[in-house]
Amino acid sequence: MGLGKVDLHLHLDGSLNLTSAYRLARERGVIEKSMSFEDFQARMVVPENNPSLEECLKCFDFPLAILQDQEALTESIACLIQDLHRQGLIYAEIRFAPQLHCTKGLTQQEVVEAVLRGRKAALSVCPGIMVNLILCMMTVGPEVVNHEANQKTIEVAKKFLGQGVVAVDLAGNEGACPILDYRPLFEYAQKLGVPYTIHAGEAGPASNVRDAIEMGAWRIGHGGHCTQDPEVKQLVIERKIPLEICITSNLQCHVQPSYQEHAILELFHSGAKVTINTDNMTLSRVSLDSEIQHALEEMGFKEEDIRIMTQNAIQAAFLSEEEKQKLLAQI
Ligand SMILES: [Zn+2]
Repeated sequence: MGLGKVDLHLHLDGSLNLTSAYRLARERGVIEKSMSFEDFQARMVVPENNPSLEECLKCFDFPLAILQDQEALTESIACLIQDLHRQGLIYAEIRFAPQLHCTKGLTQQEVVEAVLRGRKAALSVCPGIMVNLILCMMTVGPEVVNHEANQKTIEVAKKFLGQGVVAVDLAGNEGACPILDYRPLFEYAQKLGVPYTIHAGEAGPASNVRDAIEMGAWRIGHGGHCTQDPEVKQLVIERKIPLEICITSNLQCHVQPSYQEHAILELFHSGAKVTINTDNMTLSRVSLDSEIQHALEEMGFKEEDIRIMTQNAIQAAFLSEEEKQKLLAQI
């Protein structure tokens, strides 16, 4: 399709350029020099047939091992932006969790500085695409375990807000800890004026979507499970809460049954502000083009529907009104 494309939900670690990642992994001793590119690739993408959640999560092992120094972070974001530019995207919000890149001594601020450098370098050679960053806090278990690291993420986001960073997020194992336990962190983000989206209702129940909205999220990562509770679904529709839906990723993680029965259909046709996103381009073996193709060929969406969802994405972006108008003119 000729229209400009927008991705609001895209994880850096799950979307690495394979050629670059292979070289970075070899240089850093993450893999044996004898490992072939094909074997490396097989460990970076989910298996074709009905992968288990464990198999999906294992695909983050190499990316996280690679992305522990500034050079690797700078190169990886730059390669990803160039890939998105080649695919015809006009806007993307790329997210990552700075605290996951600190195991070899980097601070969260140094992680973000490295990613911002790569972003700047890539944008200077990729006219026509805008890219901003979302910094993820993590659910890794009881809320107290990484409370300080999450708080630091908000502070780093505040420091670079408006300089390429636009928001924070809560990602990780939805359900490892009640979402409401993070309320103090979101209140802190509000106090500092840092906008946020929250992963909710992906693997977890509809009530997580309601809790996220009550904590001030005006945009939700995934949120597909809101259809399991008519009241929550109604809340999403009435409040015009944009949902960052990642269709194929949801099937691979067994949180939606099939393309034909994916909740995005019910939500779109009920008037919810849904958007189509990739989640993890490399890990899930998808691109925005392939997701749109699934939507058109297997889910009964029309080209006009795709345009509406792209408009939704632009309206939902962490951008100024002026920037949104500029993007809307391109679709
Ligand atoms: Zn996600």
